[in-house]
Amino acid sequence: MQDTEKPLAQRAYAKINLGLDVVRRLENGYHEVRMVMQTVGISDLLTFAEAESGIRITTDCGELPVDENNLIYKAARLLAETCGITKGVSIHLEKHIPIAAGMAGGSSDAAATLLGLRELFSLELTDEQLRELGVKVGADVPYCIMGGTALAEGIGEVLTPLAPAPRCSILVAKPGIQVSTRYVYEHLDASEAWEHPDIDGMCAAIAAGDLAGVTDRLGNVLERVTIPAYPVIARIKEEMLDMGATGSLMSGSGPTVFGIYESREQAQTACDQLAQKGLAEQLFVTEFI
Ligand code: ATP
Repeated sequence: MQDTEKPLAQRAYAKINLGLDVVRRLENGYHEVRMVMQTVGISDLLTFAEAESGIRITTDCGELPVDENNLIYKAARLLAETCGITKGVSIHLEKHIPIAAGMAGGSSDAAATLLGLRELFSLELTDEQLRELGVKVGADVPYCIMGGTALAEGIGEVLTPLAPAPRCSILVAKPGIQVSTRYVYEHLDASEAWEHPDIDGMCAAIAAGDLAGVTDRLGNVLERVTIPAYPVIARIKEEMLDMGATGSLMSGSGPTVFGIYESREQAQTACDQLAQKGLAEQLFVTEFI
């Protein structure tokens, strides 16, 4: 059993989408997707400690609920009910991942909660069992449990691990707006013919370690909805390309934009220049994990 004096810590990493395609709208309102997911080095920190009873969440982020609306709470409650845990837990969230940004921050916190509590309570659950529980909290949670480079299909829960993506530096820019994932999917006209990103080609380029092949195939169909609503996204993409990015794309449902650079110096220079233009509220120079 875990030492109750010493809290257990678990990092929750953000993701970007190197490719995001929507195949069709399902009858239950979900969408069938094909996404190339990639963990990046931006993370929240969760700490867990046993308590007498109940689930108590604290956070340094004033914007987030700490009640049952927090995905951490949903994940902890589901695990407690499934495994018959009678003890309580206190969870503290140190938030760094931009919120409502297309970086799966909430899903990653839920994934970290499942991983952290499995360890805290010494639960005999496999990663696969944890992923099966995770999808009940959110479609991206199973991927967040797995992490790394992966192809996500179905509603996001059918995962195929891929070879690590080629090394590069990433500039992540989050404009000062929040975008609702639900709004974006609801406004995507799935009956319309649009250009689909080359997801299979992207997977092949990753397998071959071909960075140019990856950047050539960056594509996200959700840009069709989010960019017309928030043109600042297109401006940031253009600025990143002007400042030497070999490719640039919106992540998830947005509004976060990332640019791929061959060196950290280039990414840092672009970051400094973009900061001066005042287009982004949060900027990070990071890499694939
Ligand atoms: P995705 O990329 O999966 O669409 P996102 O990055 O767009 O996710 P999140 O930051 O995960 O969006 O959060 C979306 C909403 O979920 C927010 O409005 C927030 O209030 C709610 N939420 C609940 N729990 C959390 C959490 N632990 N972290 C962030 N958001 C949370």
